[in-house]
Amino acid sequence: MAREGRGVEDVLWAAWQASGLERRWAAASAWGGSAGAQADRDLDAVVALFDAAAAYVDRLPRAQLGGFLDYIAQQQIPTSSSNRSTAPADAVTLLSAHSAAGREWELVAVAGVQEGLWPGLRARGSLLGTDTLVDLVSGKVDAAAALDGRLSKAAPLLAEERKLFLVACSRARSTLLVTAVDSSTGDTDLVRSRFVDELRGVDGDADPVPLPEGSEPPTPHRVLALPMLVAELRGVVCDPVVAEHDPDKRARAARHLATLAEAGVRGAHPDEWFGIAGLSTSEPLWHLGDGPVPLSPSTVEQLTTCPLRWMLERHGGNDGTNTHAVTGTLVHTLVQAVAGRIPPDQLRRALETAWDAVDLGSQWFSRHELDRTGAMLDTFENWLQGTRGELTEAGVEVQVDGILAARSEDEPAVALRGRIDRLEHDPDGRPVVIDVKTAKTVMSKEDARNHHQLATYQVAAAAGAIEGEPAGEPGGARLVFVAKPHNKDGATQRIQEVPTPEKLEEWRDTVHRAASATQGPVFEARVNDGCRHCPVKSSCPAHETGRQVTEQ
Ligand code: SF4
Repeated sequence: MAREGRGVEDVLWAAWQASGLERRWAAASAWGGSAGAQADRDLDAVVALFDAAAAYVDRLPRAQLGGFLDYIAQQQIPTSSSNRSTAPADAVTLLSAHSAAGREWELVAVAGVQEGLWPGLRARGSLLGTDTLVDLVSGKVDAAAALDGRLSKAAPLLAEERKLFLVACSRARSTLLVTAVDSSTGDTDLVRSRFVDELRGVDGDADPVPLPEGSEPPTPHRVLALPMLVAELRGVVCDPVVAEHDPDKRARAARHLATLAEAGVRGAHPDEWFGIAGLSTSEPLWHLGDGPVPLSPSTVEQLTTCPLRWMLERHGGNDGTNTHAVTGTLVHTLVQAVAGRIPPDQLRRALETAWDAVDLGSQWFSRHELDRTGAMLDTFENWLQGTRGELTEAGVEVQVDGILAARSEDEPAVALRGRIDRLEHDPDGRPVVIDVKTAKTVMSKEDARNHHQLATYQVAAAAGAIEGEPAGEPGGARLVFVAKPHNKDGATQRIQEVPTPEKLEEWRDTVHRAASATQGPVFEARVNDGCRHCPVKSSCPAHETGRQVTEQ
């Protein structure tokens, strides 16, 4: 059955039935005595096994028997409250401070007592403060103090956390071990909790308690964590000074690393030392003789601003599932529907139906976004009505597909491919490109004049690369910001004028340069205003957080 891919519980049930143990153990249990007690324990164990299988399948619905058996074989600490009571006496019990209340052990370890974790002073309760309201109504807090803000929210939390810490510490019959770390290395500073000092009966600035006689003082700033230990050992192994002057130390560190690697500790094996791996290839992504380079007008801006960001985002650096992307796609689809002369109430119903399929987390936020999206559609309608005197619709979602030939030997030909939200004709019959924007912030008029995506559309229009349009003089382009209503124009718009022949040539240079920037093998990181929100900053060598650990 397992080979046929049947579920874990099915296979276990079939094995249990085929074993014939049920009747035998049930009969022994009914007889009682020591054999009956053993049969009871065996039956309990089988029930626990089925419970564990059910919990495992709940977490991993497609799990197979092999995985479950490995999981069971690795269990060393009871996972549920039901089997904690059956844990052997010499086992370690792992539990929260709350669930330790009322119990005792010879030795208790309270680990990781760091400031920020214990006490955890993050405000609890609901966004609207209903818990405070309940306290007020029940007379637990003073109404006047609460209303004028004098009531400290942290004080009761701190008292509660202190009480909990004392509950945890007082579970020990003979030995209590409390661990905390003071360290200024690593990503964040670590500070021991104020409770540690309170427990020792000293103030926070006092010297640490003396170490037991004979024990070695710890290395300053060493953090008691596996990644830090691995990092320290790697530092010793890779240090050329240590290699030259203290080869024994280096050999010892290498042996420790080998032991950790054998135990499966991450980063201990040299195969996982990313910084020392060589380049996988130094080949460019394409050669000039390979034919026209495919390029979407929407990527010209990014390739011009930062080729590295383009490369990383295109190869997995951006999951593309943010709220703005979802809203943007929906608005663009509905804008097409507006062009299809669908009545406003029908459009609103279509929006609400589509919205049900979008998961934006909380309901109030979803409702707010739905209203905002509805308002954007109204704004677009207003813009549409207001511009019919000067523009005539030529199409929606119009295809851009054409070749810009190379103008010199070292310039690539470009295959422009994309879609224009809306194409209009001006009174002279020239194509006017309309790009609908859902962003809340409107760009400056100057930025719009040099907007690379619009400029690329105009280059495409001049080259005859827009579906259904002959090559010829373009009629300009516009960005329509549907999230920003405008009294006169319906929606705020930014206009890119009809280009002069020189300007058109300049833009064409930009398009060919953008295509060249996709070649590699080197992609330049160009620091710019967008770095603050760059989704691939953590992989960017231009910033501290993105550098490889082996770089100076
Ligand atoms: S952080 Fe800035 S420089 Fe680095 S990839 Fe992103 S945009 Fe480019």
